[in-house]
Amino acid sequence: MHEFSITSRIVNCVLEEAKKHNARRVNEVHLVVGKLTFLGLEQVRFAYEMLVKNTILEDSKLHIEEKDGAVKCDRCGYAGDLRYEDDPVYHVPSPTLVCPKCEGAVNIVGGKECTIKRLKLVA
Ligand SMILES: [Zn+2]
Repeated sequence: MHEFSITSRIVNCVLEEAKKHNARRVNEVHLVVGKLTFLGLEQVRFAYEMLVKNTILEDSKLHIEEKDGAVKCDRCGYAGDLRYEDDPVYHVPSPTLVCPKCEGAVNIVGGKECTIKRLKLVA
């Protein structure tokens, strides 16, 4: 349950933040989830619903913004989206760490984050 542990960390973070601001309730939580986290957003939502029960986050709205992956190539300087290749087993495009320009190896520079972007607190 990858999603559950990550969502639980997020909820704890929000609770701490709310405490710092002496908030009585949290109305909205905006998350940014990088596509390279491979988190199932449905599972995140499901875990969230369970985790916020009986907390000041109960009934809050969860907004999830997906962020594309980004890579950088040291060889040719390419920076941008990843190259996707059709996975022959699952028939879904899966990201590769191959430079679309020079076929060299690229480094991931974005898309692995899962961060809280904004909170709406009620004091
Ligand atoms: Zn390259």
